[in-house]
Amino acid sequence: MKNQIRVRFAPSPTGPLHMGGVRTALYNYLFALKMKGQFILRIEDTDQSRYIEGAEEYILNSLDWCGLKFHEGPHLKGEYGPYRQSERKELYKLYVDKLIASGKAYYAFDSEQELDEMRVNLKKAGVQSPQYNHISRQTMKNSLTLPVEEVDKKLSNNEPHVIRIKMPRNQTIKFQDKIRGWVSFNTNHLDDKVLYKSDGMPTYHLANVVDDHLMKISHVIRGEEWLPSAPLHVFLYQSFGWEKQMPQFAHLPLILNPEGDGKLSKRDGDRLGFPIFPILWKNKKTNVNIEGYKEKGFLPEAFINMLVFLGWNPGNAQEIFSMDELIKEFTLERVGKSGSRYSYQKTKWFNQQHLRLKSNQEIRDKTTFSKDFKKSEEYILKVIELVKERCTFFEDVIKESNYLFTAPDDYNSVAVEKKWNKETVSHLISLKSKFISSKDFTKNNIEVIFKDYLELSQVGFGQVMPGLRISITGKMQGPSMFSVMELLGLHEVISRIDKAIETLGNG
Ligand code: GLU
Repeated sequence: MKNQIRVRFAPSPTGPLHMGGVRTALYNYLFALKMKGQFILRIEDTDQSRYIEGAEEYILNSLDWCGLKFHEGPHLKGEYGPYRQSERKELYKLYVDKLIASGKAYYAFDSEQELDEMRVNLKKAGVQSPQYNHISRQTMKNSLTLPVEEVDKKLSNNEPHVIRIKMPRNQTIKFQDKIRGWVSFNTNHLDDKVLYKSDGMPTYHLANVVDDHLMKISHVIRGEEWLPSAPLHVFLYQSFGWEKQMPQFAHLPLILNPEGDGKLSKRDGDRLGFPIFPILWKNKKTNVNIEGYKEKGFLPEAFINMLVFLGWNPGNAQEIFSMDELIKEFTLERVGKSGSRYSYQKTKWFNQQHLRLKSNQEIRDKTTFSKDFKKSEEYILKVIELVKERCTFFEDVIKESNYLFTAPDDYNSVAVEKKWNKETVSHLISLKSKFISSKDFTKNNIEVIFKDYLELSQVGFGQVMPGLRISITGKMQGPSMFSVMELLGLHEVISRIDKAIETLGNG
């Protein structure tokens, strides 16, 4: 039997996809693949005034970079298309007419000015947030208050009008959310939302519910900001008589800013210096380009790994996951209710961890070393092996490995200040002769020579190693010096020790 699990990612093309949107797509994707179901892209473009050119393409490119592939969508074939709401316009009219016919919705002819007046009057009467609802609609110009003939006349004259849901008085709307448990709302707090606009387009609510139904969506997994809309959606399913096929809802927790005191926004990224978009966004109107995680050097797998933890946990201590592992492990039951705080530090840590998992050859292919470094491929791969654990981004490989190609020109002044002195120089001179007389300049043997020397001279590691490291690398920190020396070779090691002594003097 065909699997019935069908989920959708339903962005509106109103601008670049924020990382919160990518997380929603990711959770839908993981859930679909785990359940062997379908992952669908639906473009919700009914609000033409907010349409931004290039946004749909951006959404596709971003998710492609993240490795999230759809089974159905406007760019693919599928039995349930079209997958762009602007191409399904006629459909919504049919459905809204059904609601009118069953008395669940009504025509409203109020002008902007009349709506404003209503709000002002209600405010004056002490109503804090005035709404078009079961009380106020009684005084407005709609098919519930006007005589039938007048309504018919207005409709046949094509007078501007909208269609509103008729929210009943004092009823409880309840549904079970897979993340929040039972959620209930009293209809007294809900307004008569517009379902169909005067421009002949449905609003988000109508189009969203009709499409979820027609596309046989089994689970609606979306951000918490849509929770207040859910009772209206449930009421629409009931009004259409579709409650038996109603999808299950899962409202994802917020992603909080690094300070943890509000929803993560683009402003936080600008203020604290981290990207908010997955890939480069080129604003065609303003010509402003905004770099994303990709351009900052992040690996898509690290970005995904970071994102999945903003709301989900595996229930054990494992932190590094591949997409395949996530597909196996992901469950909605392990998504929490409370918001998760974003951290740029942690994001970089994920990148570092995933970079380490790359083969030396993969890193080689992504790194451009200077042509002046005349070294064999074999040597370059060994360099990568040595430094990769110290790198967060591909570009760090170059920074971290410079001294493995050319002798240092300058020496870290803090290191020299602290660690370079007469004793250092005398140790280096003694060590040098031990190295020269060694038959086998491999890391294990170098280590033996070094440790024997420490024992013989009755000195500690910290009295000799920093000086040796400074003389050879110019730095205070780096990978194992025994490996570094083996790679550089005896001749180079000796010449660097000599050069350092010459340059830095006797301390
Ligand atoms: N079009 C809505 C959005 O932009 C979709 C919300 C939903 O998933 O129902 O996020």
